[in-house]
Amino acid sequence: MTAKTRVSIRRCEGYDDNELDEAFVRALHDIGFDSGRFRGARVALKPNLLNASAPDKAVVTNPAFFAAAVRIVKAHGGTPVLVESPAFQSLERVAAKTGYDAIIAAERLEVWDNRSVAVIMNDEARRFKRFEVARPLLEADILFNLPKLKTHAITRLTCAVKNLFGTIPGLAKSRWHMRAGTGDEFPELILDLYGALSAIFSGKRSMLHLVDGIMGMEGDGPGPSGTPRKIGVVLAGTDAVAVDSVAAGLIGLDSANIATISSAAARGLGVGRMEDIEIKGVELLDIAVRDFKVPASRLSSRLRDYVLKMDALRNLWVEKPLPSPDRCTLCYQCRTICPAEAIGTAEDGASVPKYDYTACIRCYCCMEICPEAAIRLEKGKLQRIMDWF
Ligand code: SF4
Ligand code: SF4
Repeated sequence: MTAKTRVSIRRCEGYDDNELDEAFVRALHDIGFDSGRFRGARVALKPNLLNASAPDKAVVTNPAFFAAAVRIVKAHGGTPVLVESPAFQSLERVAAKTGYDAIIAAERLEVWDNRSVAVIMNDEARRFKRFEVARPLLEADILFNLPKLKTHAITRLTCAVKNLFGTIPGLAKSRWHMRAGTGDEFPELILDLYGALSAIFSGKRSMLHLVDGIMGMEGDGPGPSGTPRKIGVVLAGTDAVAVDSVAAGLIGLDSANIATISSAAARGLGVGRMEDIEIKGVELLDIAVRDFKVPASRLSSRLRDYVLKMDALRNLWVEKPLPSPDRCTLCYQCRTICPAEAIGTAEDGASVPKYDYTACIRCYCCMEICPEAAIRLEKGKLQRIMDWF
């Protein structure tokens, strides 16, 4: 009988250093990861630093969580390197707002300059073979992934697999949205990238995933429009697909409906079925959050692709991003990031930018980066009618 893939769930109620250190040690022990492997290793730490928001908004991997990962790497003689490139703002600005700047300074951390990229290939890719990613990954022995457990308007869940999209520099990520679309192809893009990274971090090199599920995000995630929600756990594993499957179970999502899990498992990129995963630490049922607000999605990604191509159906069936005059400061960050050039200058007297919903591809990049949480998802008329029934 082959051994099951292990995923650890450990309770962690807050971001106290001692509690984090203990949870990390227990979680790594649960999955059989020998921390001695950090000795002499270059370790690329990949948190989620989506944008410049205060840690209590639960948009970013909490800085205390990141600091604990730095500590455990250094305590075992490894060299941590911060690998992250926010979608829009500079890393310096995001680090200053999130509190990462103090950790970078205190630990004298090496930080990826996102102009330094390297090409990696995925010969087994379904759609996209070639990616430009952070160059330090090529020199790293371990990719230590530190995602935040959040909902996501397109993929429904963003956790270990999706967090690795951040190894692509800044605005190039929104251009990928334009290339891949937001239905079937977007999860395949994420998995083609994950496959390329998995090929690099195999053999003597490895990937390790430790999830900040202490304060997660529910509702309209993954940006400031989502709502922080206490979950109180740290998850760990070496298989990102299995980790995500457990994360989905924790918040009441069926992994069969999350393409970055189900399609990954079908491709052999990881284990997606709960019955093939051995959970260590705490029982899933003992800690699952039963009323977690997950994104309501009535369309499969294939149907979504179809509907988005039809002008008459798009606004009826797919949520559109709607800026609020009460919150918008007309900073136009949304216009800069929009890959479809669907956002224009506010018309005379208007206090929000002008949106062209026929050009909008529903990637929700604008919502993710809006610093004022001014953009919410407005359901289409048919969706509202279905909700009513
Ligand atoms: S909607 Fe948000 S990102 Fe866009 S202009 Fe207004 S405040 Fe800025
Ligand atoms: S308007 Fe927003 S959701 Fe639509 S394409 Fe632009 S960034 Fe994406």
